[in-house]
Amino acid sequence: MAKCPACKAENPTPTKTWKYGAFTVEAYTCKNCQTQYREYYNKDGKYSFTLKLEKGKGYIKA
Ligand SMILES: [Zn+2]
Repeated sequence: MAKCPACKAENPTPTKTWKYGAFTVEAYTCKNCQTQYREYYNKDGKYSFTLKLEKGKGYIKA
């Protein structure tokens, strides 16, 4: 479950999950506004930060 950083809609299921160093990354595409964002969790499974995709900028801190 992850809240969209753009419109605050809840998106229950990540489209993709993978490991990135010590982090677990969950990628979402918001079903409400189509924003693509990624949530990063540390090795203890704790939420760490979110990046969102901005046109022309790539992934930036949400
Ligand atoms: Zn959204």
